[in-house]
Amino acid sequence: MTKLFDLGPPITGRRRGDSPKNGSDDFYICPICAQPVDIRDLRQVIWHDKPVHDRLEMDA
Ligand SMILES: [Zn+2]
Repeated sequence: MTKLFDLGPPITGRRRGDSPKNGSDDFYICPICAQPVDIRDLRQVIWHDKPVHDRLEMDA
């Protein structure tokens, strides 16, 4: 299983507009592996954008 760490350092996007709010807006469920994807971390977004992939092993 690929670890999130293997994909390199965090790539975080910069938010525009309103201040961040906690909530489910920052996650979506990957239709391929059914894992929650944090859209604030582009590593996860890019990984789950692949047509075929396994679930990522998340950092503790
Ligand atoms: Zn996925």
